[in-house]
Amino acid sequence: MLIDNHHRTHNYLRISLTDNCNLRCFYCMPEEDYHFMPNQQLMQADEILKIAKLFVEQGVTKIRLTGGEPLVRKDAREIITALGKLGVELTITTNATRVEHFVDAFEEAGIRSVNISLDTLQKEKFHLITRRDQFDVVKQNIDTLLSRGFKVKINVVVVKGLNDSEILDFIEWTKNASIQIRFIEFMPFDGNKWNRDKLVTLHEILTIINEKYSFIAAENAAHDTSKNFTLPGHAGSFAIISTMSVPFCNTCNRIRLTADGKIKNCLFSEEESDLLKALRNDEELLPLIESSIKSKHKELGGQFTKQFELIDADTIHNRSMIAIGG
Ligand code: SAM
Ligand code: SF4
Repeated sequence: MLIDNHHRTHNYLRISLTDNCNLRCFYCMPEEDYHFMPNQQLMQADEILKIAKLFVEQGVTKIRLTGGEPLVRKDAREIITALGKLGVELTITTNATRVEHFVDAFEEAGIRSVNISLDTLQKEKFHLITRRDQFDVVKQNIDTLLSRGFKVKINVVVVKGLNDSEILDFIEWTKNASIQIRFIEFMPFDGNKWNRDKLVTLHEILTIINEKYSFIAAENAAHDTSKNFTLPGHAGSFAIISTMSVPFCNTCNRIRLTADGKIKNCLFSEEESDLLKALRNDEELLPLIESSIKSKHKELGGQFTKQFELIDADTIHNRSMIAIGG
């Protein structure tokens, strides 16, 4: 078992397959020229499998594939298939632009639930946010997944003045669609120009929804990062991931592995442990993993507190989100 000094058991591994992406979401990718990692710097398929197996031996029961965009990787299918044989709950977060090529692979690997990022229901705004014209493909792929019986969660990063005016439209979507909308508070990462004024908090999101809909707080599972809500009479539901205004660090069970094989024990941790280098040098990985978990800060990577009003994003040392793996 991987237990940190704050008595938290870590049984959920998020693996970034690549820092490459076919979209350019401004909150994720730095504005200045970003150079994707060269292939040899990335964990190769067999290395991912070896590292994942080791985590499973240490009690990991759930693995999420993420990125960058995991499905732009040429050997994504091979990796999904191999990880599907580990006997863990396998899930993926994707921008859904390439999902149509992977539905069968998902089914065969036992993936039942897919998280999809979609920050707007307006085609022109999609282009503004992602700098690519893929709105129709994403919508089509969401429908395909639903028709094939997948559980679909839609991740919406809420940014003030950009898409907070669409919160009610997203809720309306849940009336007939069996989806969960997950509103995510905008978080600060390198190069994404975060500031407090762009943040729409849990409280503000609920106030907006309350203008038009009644909702009920639902049970949260033990390690949920989201506060879940049901909407009477709706096929779908919604949730809020309130990392900034109401963090959930005390129940955190997550470990992250970046595409270049470094452990980040928290999304906001400054420290990283280079597992890939150790693997390539034929060194023991377990001591590195254990010391990384032991050194995990109590909250928010030790870089800031839930008093988000006081955050100066320039003082936070981290990678950009695309290089961490969301
Ligand atoms: N490409 C995939 C996607 O977009 O779903 C997976 C990787 S993406 C980095 C994972 C999640 O992180 C997405 O839901 C994205 O919206 C979220 N994300 C990225 N930058 C963020 C930020 N600054 N604040 C909050 N969420 C962010
Ligand atoms: Fe790509 Fe996902 Fe980041 Fe958007 S949020 S740039 S789709 S990795």
